[in-house]
Order: sequence, then C-alpha cells, then structure tokens
Amino acid sequence: MIKINENFLRLKDNYLFSNINQRVNQYLKQNPLADIIRLGIGDVTRPIPKAITSAIKKAAEELEDKETFKGYGPEQGYDFLKEKIIKNEYRGLNIKSDEVFISDGAKCDTGNIIEIFDKDIKVGITDPVYPVYLDSNIMCGRKDTDIIYINATEKNDFTPIPEELEEVPDLIYICSPNNPTGVAMKKEILEKWVKFAREQGSIILFDDAYEAFIEEEDIPHSIYEIEGAKEVAIEFKSYSKTAGFTGLRCAYTIVPKELVVKRQIQEITDSFSNNLGNNSISINKLWNRRSTTKFNGVSYVIQRAAEAVYTEEGKKGINENIKYYKENTKIILEGLKKAGITCYGGINSPYIWMKIPKGISSWEYFDILLKQYNIVGTPGVGFGTNGEGYFRLTAFGDRDKTKEAMERISKG
Ligand code: PLP
Repeated sequence: MIKINENFLRLKDNYLFSNINQRVNQYLKQNPLADIIRLGIGDVTRPIPKAITSAIKKAAEELEDKETFKGYGPEQGYDFLKEKIIKNEYRGLNIKSDEVFISDGAKCDTGNIIEIFDKDIKVGITDPVYPVYLDSNIMCGRKDTDIIYINATEKNDFTPIPEELEEVPDLIYICSPNNPTGVAMKKEILEKWVKFAREQGSIILFDDAYEAFIEEEDIPHSIYEIEGAKEVAIEFKSYSKTAGFTGLRCAYTIVPKELVVKRQIQEITDSFSNNLGNNSISINKLWNRRSTTKFNGVSYVIQRAAEAVYTEEGKKGINENIKYYKENTKIILEGLKKAGITCYGGINSPYIWMKIPKGISSWEYFDILLKQYNIVGTPGVGFGTNGEGYFRLTAFGDRDKTKEAMERISKG
C-alpha cells in the first residue's frame, strides 16, 4: 500500500500566509467594497529598475540567435554573476567562485540545506522566526525533541545569545536582520555565536535576506565579517527584497571550503574529503553534490538580470526602492508611536514588530485590524509561540496606502 510521508501531518495548520489570504478572501466575499490595505505579506511592490529589465530583454534576445543561444547552464550558476557577487558583496572577504551557489531562492536553500545533515541532530531555531526553518525540519522528519527553541523576546531585546541556551544545537539558524522582529544582530553578538559554534562544533545557517536594509554601523552585512566564521557558517542571500526579485527568483548561498565536519564512517567515497585529509568531509562538496543532482540552475536570463543589479544604473534603481521602503518604515514607526503602540525593529529592516494590547491573541488582533480598519498584517504567533502578543507590519506597501493605514490606526 502506498504511504505518505507522515511528517507532513505533524505540520501545524496551513502555511501562515495561505491562512491569512483565506481569511482576507472570506472577508472580501462578504464585504466586496472594503478598501483593504495590505501590510502583511513581505512581498515587494516597487517596479524593477529599467537597467534590470533591459538586461532581461537583451538576454532573451540572445536566446533567439543560434550563436548566443543557451541551454542548461552550470548548476551552481554562471561565472559572470558569481564574479559580480564576490566583487560587490564580499569585497575583502576572500570568497571564492566555487563557494558561491546561485539558486532560485533563499526559501528553497534554507529549507533544502538540511538534507545534507543527519536526521539525528539537534537544531536551534529562534522563536519567533521565519516559519520555513521549522516546517522544513519537520517535513524531513526532525523530532520535536530535537528542535531547540531559542527565545527572542523583549527580555533579551529580541537578540538571543549563546549563554542563554540550555542545550547545544548542532545546527543554528540565525536570521539577521530578523523576520519577523525586524531586529538585527550587532557584531559583538554575532561574534559570540561564531565563537560558540567553533567551540561546540556547531554550524550556523545565517539567513541574510534583508541585508540591504542595514543602516547602523555595528551590524555586519555578512557573517564572514566575523573572524573564523568561514569554518562554521553558511550564508544565504537573496535578490528578492534587495532588488525586487520576488517574482523573478534569484538568490545565492555561500558555502565556504573551510567548513568541514568529521567523517562519521570510513567506507564512503573520498570525493567529499576536500583534500583535507581522510577524516574531514567538506560541506561545500556535499552541497555541490546535492545541487548538481537536484537542481539545474537559475535561468540564464534571470542571472543576467541579477548581474545588472551591480551596474551603476541598477544600483541607483534598487537604492531608490530601498529608500522608498525605508521611508514607509519611518511612517509606520511614527504612526504607531503616535497611537501609543510599542514597537520594535524597522531600523535595519522593513519589518515592524508591534506589541498588541494585553488580553487578546494575535489572530484576534488580526481580525480587529481587518474588520475595523481594513488593514491586513501578520499575527505574531504565526512565527512561533513567542510571537503571541505581537503583530508584524511591513514597509513594502504603497506610500499613500501606508500613510492611510497609519491614519486609520491613529484615529482609533
Ligand atoms: N529568508 C527570509 C528570512 C525571508 O523572510 C524570506 C522571504 O520572505 C526568504 C528567506 C525568502 O527569500 P526568497 O524570495 O529568496 O526565497
């Protein structure tokens, strides 16, 4: 008899955003004229800069010509894009081309990376956090007892430190700037995590999808700014929020060659040892093996689009968009302050983490915002137990709508 992967049945309810959409659609069915303002899902709304769309058109035209046609590309990505990434994002950090893996999203990579690790390891996941980490661990059969929740609460300024851990995780997800709290990790805290990982033999999965929003000086733009991080960290970056690629799909993951783990069994092929002696297995080689087996690369056209992000015009365009969202963040922060609502984040991030009135749940608050103000946000509990009592608003919306949302809230 055919059997399903029962781990899927252990997943909670629907995926958070489908659940939100369902509620909004149901409300719209009953109130078709409602003027809904969406400050919920973290999707961008600004159009893609012309330098990038021109690169897409040019690359598409190349495909019309027999001489410039492209079929399958390298699974790990074209060198032209990797070179630009190294030069622009990792200047002075000595990242090599074969440590860069171009992919179609940080969501897929942060979810898929766990395939290369054993099932029986402990995984540290901050609470609250981007739900994909937990759900993908459950899907792959991680037991509840093997998930270590790392509290990120008001008590620790939403910035956990390793000293607070009661158990040592083998894998540690760190998302900074954080989704959903909008709080970014200062260099000195990230140094603690790197030191901890080095001492304990853990690996950090560093999700840097919101790096472009960092504005304070003591926040690292890459975990590899921390000495010794290459031996313990994998970094995920994405063009989605940086350059408006949520629909185009392009991201990259850095897996340094220095990142090795001890060989558990002798009778395996030497192809994963990375010439570091028989006792070491290269995580870079494992990820490469996984990628070349299950992925056929991002399309040539989209990689040319990502390359155009680094042209003068491309940079100018994406910086304008980031500035636009940052202005929205200020409007939200000021609006909520005016309404007497405590909130966090929003400085190095497009997310604002607002505290909701005591005595109501975050889903109840969702319904209040939807029905009374016609505003859609994201209930904090959707990001973890510690998210209860909070609500996430995003700065990715339209300027006028964002202003109007704040007016509606401040009028009460
Ligand atoms: N990582 C975090 C923390 C996110 O919030 C998101 C999207 O919301 C992603 C990754 C997904 O990025 P991508 O669009 O590259 O898959």
